[in-house]
Amino acid sequence: MSVSCQRPLSTMSHPNDPKLKSFIDVAADSDFPIQNLPYGVFSTPTSAQKRVGVAIGEFVLDLAALESEGLLKVGEGVFAQGGLNAFMALGPKTWTATRARISELLRHDTATLRDNAALRKRALLPRNEVQLHMPFAVAGYTDFYSSKEHATNVGIMFRGKDNALQPNWLHIPIAYNGRASTVVVSGTPIIRPQGQLKPPSADAPTFGPCKRLDFELEMGVVVGGASQMGHMLTEAQAAEMIFGFVLLNDWSARDIQQWEYVPLGPFQAKAFGTSISPWVVTREALEPFRVAGPTQDPTPLPYLQQKGANNYDLNLDVELRADGAKDYAQIARTNFKYMYWSSVQQLVHHASGGCAMNVGDLLGSGTISGPEKDQRGSLLEISWNGSEPIDLPGGVKRTFFEDGDSLSIRGWCQGDGYRVGFGEVEGTILPAKE
Ligand code: CA
Repeated sequence: MSVSCQRPLSTMSHPNDPKLKSFIDVAADSDFPIQNLPYGVFSTPTSAQKRVGVAIGEFVLDLAALESEGLLKVGEGVFAQGGLNAFMALGPKTWTATRARISELLRHDTATLRDNAALRKRALLPRNEVQLHMPFAVAGYTDFYSSKEHATNVGIMFRGKDNALQPNWLHIPIAYNGRASTVVVSGTPIIRPQGQLKPPSADAPTFGPCKRLDFELEMGVVVGGASQMGHMLTEAQAAEMIFGFVLLNDWSARDIQQWEYVPLGPFQAKAFGTSISPWVVTREALEPFRVAGPTQDPTPLPYLQQKGANNYDLNLDVELRADGAKDYAQIARTNFKYMYWSSVQQLVHHASGGCAMNVGDLLGSGTISGPEKDQRGSLLEISWNGSEPIDLPGGVKRTFFEDGDSLSIRGWCQGDGYRVGFGEVEGTILPAKE
């Protein structure tokens, strides 16, 4: 790859430099300042071709347009396609060089794009006028269960206080293999699933619409590298394979789950829909926000031990809009930093048995709950298995979702005078198709 730079390297600021400014005005509370530069896939009303873009303030920078102008030389047609997979497959050196080049082109003191009105018109499109699509083709989807607070809350509800955490939980990043086929981009409606239901009081199961429909607040790791079947990964190798992160809502049918999950774990309860945010925030953009995770006691086995601070100080907000309501109401606010097992540990563990990882694999972090009551990342926990209804504006109460309800998750890292954000992942529940 060759990325041409007009500026000598010595005068180039790092793309994460908090002082960097773009010639595009970006509000201090925007998710997409020049320090972020997340990748997505979009089309426009006048051009249905899906291509790769970068969010900057209220605009999308069309990378395919820059490439056709010769301003971005990454690889023939890499950005003129409907997914990030081909770009991700080029590897971390290309990711870094490309981000530096895009940052340079957007800087206030770079004239190339700033002073070329025709090119600006073609390559900078108002964000509210584009259609956003799935940012990458999901190769495989694995969902972890890595928040100690969440696992403890669920364990208490399902098995009682004395057996809340299973004996393996503090030793293994627990996970199950989910479905890539039903991972959808924000804004895609979710049809209420049907399934086998058997409340503890019933003698036999029945088949019908889920009555305890829930969300799970998660982050998704977008794997940008591949590993070979039969080969383990080191902490450093796993860290390098992570291209970026998305917000993720792992929609869950609690009544279906409770009946089916023994002995092999969730199946239909989690397979009907998983929503992700359209913008992939790169691992590089999150570097300034790295923090150490909770102390791990007992010490993990050697292959899972990490030297790096692999958690992120990343704020997460959850809002619910009840069917017919005008506005969203906040129902939880927490932080990604509470996760017990880090994304790097999850990836190391995933490959540790010899499982091959692929470009485009998606790893759900597991529901992110914090230590406080208002930091719980699912309705199951917030309503304590339906026993404590949530009060919403206008006297509306909820335990689980009703048809027409919408859920929105937002996430951002707060810098000094700017934020590196993810935008939103949103979804609305439609009635079951009987
Ligand atoms: Ca989950």
